[in-house]
Amino acid sequence: PVRVRFCPSPTGNPHVGLVRTALFNWAFARHNQGTMVFRIEDTDAARDSEESYNQLLDSLRWLGLDWDEGPEVGGPHAPYRQSQRMDIYKDVAEKLLAGGYAYHCYCTTEELDERRDAARAAGRPSGYDGHCRELTAEQKAAYEAEGRTAIVRFRMPDEPITFTDLVRGELTFTPDNVPDYGIVRANGAPLYTLVNPVDDALMEITHVLRGEDLLSSTPRQIALYKALIELGVAKGTPAFGHLPYVMGEGNKKLSKRDPQASLNIYRERGFLPEGLLNYLSLLGWSFSADQDVFSISDMIAKFDVADVNANPARFDLKKAESINGDHIRMLDVKAFTAACEPWLTAPHANWAPEDFDRAAWEAIAPHAQTRVTVLSDITANVDFLFLKEPVEDEASWAKAMKEGSDGLLRTAREKLEAADWSSPESLKEAVLAAGEAHGLKLGKAQAPVRVAVTGRTVGLPLFESLEILGKEKTLARIDAALE
Ligand code: GLU
Repeated sequence: PVRVRFCPSPTGNPHVGLVRTALFNWAFARHNQGTMVFRIEDTDAARDSEESYNQLLDSLRWLGLDWDEGPEVGGPHAPYRQSQRMDIYKDVAEKLLAGGYAYHCYCTTEELDERRDAARAAGRPSGYDGHCRELTAEQKAAYEAEGRTAIVRFRMPDEPITFTDLVRGELTFTPDNVPDYGIVRANGAPLYTLVNPVDDALMEITHVLRGEDLLSSTPRQIALYKALIELGVAKGTPAFGHLPYVMGEGNKKLSKRDPQASLNIYRERGFLPEGLLNYLSLLGWSFSADQDVFSISDMIAKFDVADVNANPARFDLKKAESINGDHIRMLDVKAFTAACEPWLTAPHANWAPEDFDRAAWEAIAPHAQTRVTVLSDITANVDFLFLKEPVEDEASWAKAMKEGSDGLLRTAREKLEAADWSSPESLKEAVLAAGEAHGLKLGKAQAPVRVAVTGRTVGLPLFESLEILGKEKTLARIDAALE
């Protein structure tokens, strides 16, 4: 059975790279009827925060990426927060030391730096040189007498390590490129290099799908797995697949700190979870040559890590928005109406929450659904319904109000007053007739009416808008514009 894991460190805000990793693991688990394990890698007290932990949980829930084992859900391998598993790591580190798979290293940072620089200058491999690999008991005692403390260092095999990456195919790492590495700090704190593979082993993870930035740790982990298997701690080695980098502006790696990378921004702007997930799934994967928009269940049905592309993916905000807009249009109108409401009833800069009119909103919603790419766009499209006076937008005003607009508005007002307000057609006739009286086509005649009533030159279909706003308010706004 497939067991995958999503194991973020709770530092900072969730970002799109992290979500893409979570999504691919989740889709792989769901496609294979496997198990999604959610583990929190919070062994770095200086950087981890409870706020970030809560945000991670909240973000996954919002996205609908559920987990079968993990925080708040529990499971056979609990606890799922590494900060609560310290005894396990200590125990494994001791076993590795006792079995000779790891050793104490007393080198100081200065000594390491010096030897590294010398190796570089001489054109030799510059990784750890194995200095403390074979220390005798006397040598150790002497170092300790000097007051030195030791880290635990894992002994890498002297042969190359080859594995088949699920995305990249066969990869080989030579020993020169993967020197012995630290697994426990001098103060006893276990490092990522130890805790991550140990937990993957104990949690019986079968497939590790993670970002390309972690590729260099894979040969180390494979060597560590071999030791863990020999010690009876691990049952086998998982398969590894490294997901491509995501590039942002200027073809640079999208960094955590990039504003475009923050998940919260998409949420605050009103991306739908399914729209965002659809877009993020295209960062390194494709659904089919001619289809970019699909549901999450269709993605699950099709997803295979073997189809992930090794080439860097480019983050394209315009495309993300356009796909999200397509998902907004795929909602049934009731769901759309409900999804927008938080944006319309939130304490708003423009109108008071009590000025929100649900009946008017429900009437206009079907016309608005085709116009927005993110839900937050909705406010500018419908604010004229809830504001006491339309927004004051000088640019729109200047654009629509020409010489002669006053005359046109007066005629339009007369015709609208006499019109039948039970359908938009009759309102259209009224404005059409007013335009004719002034030698203007409908488009030109419409513009000043729209600006007078909504404050903007562009917006939802005008006559439906007028009908929903109502006769009294429409005429009052035209009067105000004529003052
Ligand atoms: N906690 C690690 C990270 O967030 C997990 C890396 C991995 O997937 O192995 O980078």
